[in-house]
Amino acid sequence: MTRTRAALAIAAAGLSLALTACAGDASPLPGRSTAPAPDASTPTAIAPDTSCNPRASRRPSGALPQPGKMPAGSYMAEIQKKGRLVLGTSQDTLLFSSRNPLSGQVEGFDVDMGRQIAAAIFGDPNKLQIKVISYDKRVSSAVDGSVDVVADTMTANCARWKDVDFSSIYYEAGQKVLVSTDSKATRIEDLGGKKVCAAAGSTSYVNIGLVKPKPVAVALPSFGDCLVAFQQNEVDAISTDDTILAGMAAQDPYAKVVGKKFTEEPYGMAISPKHPEFTQFVNAVLEKNRANGTWAATYSKWLGGTAPQPPAAQYK
Ligand code: GLU
Repeated sequence: MTRTRAALAIAAAGLSLALTACAGDASPLPGRSTAPAPDASTPTAIAPDTSCNPRASRRPSGALPQPGKMPAGSYMAEIQKKGRLVLGTSQDTLLFSSRNPLSGQVEGFDVDMGRQIAAAIFGDPNKLQIKVISYDKRVSSAVDGSVDVVADTMTANCARWKDVDFSSIYYEAGQKVLVSTDSKATRIEDLGGKKVCAAAGSTSYVNIGLVKPKPVAVALPSFGDCLVAFQQNEVDAISTDDTILAGMAAQDPYAKVVGKKFTEEPYGMAISPKHPEFTQFVNAVLEKNRANGTWAATYSKWLGGTAPQPPAAQYK
């Protein structure tokens, strides 16, 4: 098994290297091609910030403008003038945003969220530039304007609302744990003292610090790095959103996801608070796509099966 794991890790590293070479967008790569030395510092177990309703976003105002006719003076008009919507996302989250090795394109549920906004602005879902960002740059990329919107399995929470605005919720995820198929663990509480990996800058890393008995939380730049570390037996488990873990389990026959969701991770798209009208616009696009079946079709396309009801929009 160890040898198989090592071979898988090398394959993953090689794939990552190959993907680097054929990257279609000129974005910096957040991950590394081999597993870096784990940082096993314990996350500070901060109490969850419950000072707001993280699901409540800005209410859309009126009907959507026609594609190609964005209101003068709005941030949408600026994007229209620029000729493309810049989406910040990952490239190693299978099903949500990962690079297709055949086409070289980053694709998935999150990318389609961006495409649907581009379609509403331009009448063309392909007027989208994907910028690959690391998990710990999601907030700063939205704030500094290097991307127009972030759709990246990103949990809307009160701490992040202090810096960015979130769209209404487009997906309800929750944290679980992935272990080796021969592990006896059935839930994260069974991993006290064991090394559990999460991406730096993720809610997952903080949440591991709240588990009792405490696992040893290991932070790596991306969840792809966690998978490589797991396959090299450098960590015992990976804990993050069920969505991300499902993609990893699909890539590793020696991995299984165990236990129930132990957190709520409602996904929103992050937007600079400087452009409230853009958040309202994105929410109007989400409203339309929940109602006309586009959300359900996007769910079935990437996650398979019949889509559940989309998360209901909540507004301030
Ligand atoms: N959804 C969580 C977060 O936003 C964990 C996974 C991720 O980093 O996307 O931090």
